[in-house]
Amino acid sequence: LSPPPRRPIRELPDELVSQIAAGEVVERPASVVRELVDNALDAGASQVTVRLLAGGVRLICVEDDGGGIAREELPLALKRHATSKIGSLADLESVATMGFRGEALAAIASVSEMSLLSREQGAATAFLLDASSGELRPAARSAGTTVEVKELFFSTPARRKFLKTDATEMAHCLEAVRRHALARPDVGFTVWHEGKLVEQWRAGTREQRLADVLGEDFLEQSVAVEHAIGPLRIRGRAGIPDAARSRADWQFAYVNGRYVRDKVITHAARSAYEDLLHGNRQPVYALYVEIDPTRVDVNVHPTKIEVRFRDSREVHQAVRHAVEGALSAPRAALAATRPV
Ligand code: ADP
Ligand code: MG
Repeated sequence: LSPPPRRPIRELPDELVSQIAAGEVVERPASVVRELVDNALDAGASQVTVRLLAGGVRLICVEDDGGGIAREELPLALKRHATSKIGSLADLESVATMGFRGEALAAIASVSEMSLLSREQGAATAFLLDASSGELRPAARSAGTTVEVKELFFSTPARRKFLKTDATEMAHCLEAVRRHALARPDVGFTVWHEGKLVEQWRAGTREQRLADVLGEDFLEQSVAVEHAIGPLRIRGRAGIPDAARSRADWQFAYVNGRYVRDKVITHAARSAYEDLLHGNRQPVYALYVEIDPTRVDVNVHPTKIEVRFRDSREVHQAVRHAVEGALSAPRAALAATRPV
């Protein structure tokens, strides 16, 4: 076999670089929802509204009442590797925000028709930036930001073909908001689809939010988890064995407010149920791990759904211990942990 003909090395055009990067970050409408809600929360929003058309394929609009973006920074927000969240390696090693890679808006803009409407807190007017044309003009809005994403993957039909039905995409979008909602009970969330109100979760206590999102049953059939050791704190609720499900779809784990799928936490939680659950029964839980940010690396995966702990044994032991402790509390005490 002869080697393929040699082709010259070229630098790729910016647009193509963004589209390649978008492949990692934007898999489907729900990925866009996740990134935009992340941004709203990072901006200090107290209310986030998500509006969708056709499961997010035709439109994803996320509105917040956060700090907003200054007029002169609007074009920067769309540039790759442009971020207000970190500025140095030291910042990266102790990230406290959801975002920090400065990639999402650039990636989304490269595979959709996007616009940014924002009014900085204290500014006299809002400005609207059309990502495709670059046109920037004054517009009307109260303080905060609205990001509109239309016709996702319209320019990349190959990607568009991978999308499922609107109903399936909608379910994924809703799941993305649900994960955020469980992390931030202090923030109100509203979801609209095709002009109809789908969910409305008002700001309140963590217990209230768990009941609103997962149902009163979850609260009644779970016990409070509360455990602190060294640089670690674990809170949340663990379902009683009777509440176990056949699928592992109600296992919500958070690290410093970020929803994660983490083998260490999943395994530790499962092992706490070792003698309580048999066969394929899957425990339900919502666990919130708080850890010194320098002891966890969140820059492992473009979507940040995976993290790496500096000392995973320490985390495993703490989670297992926290859940075991909660499950072994005497019945009377269990009842007392139930919110009124
Ligand atoms: P990252 O979140 O990693 O910084 P993004 O591409 O998601 O990267 O956003 C780029 C920048 O745009 C952010 O750092 C932030 O300054 C600004 N931004 C994006 N969305 C919002 C928002 N909803 N409110 C205020 N600022 C925003
Ligand atoms: Mg972001």
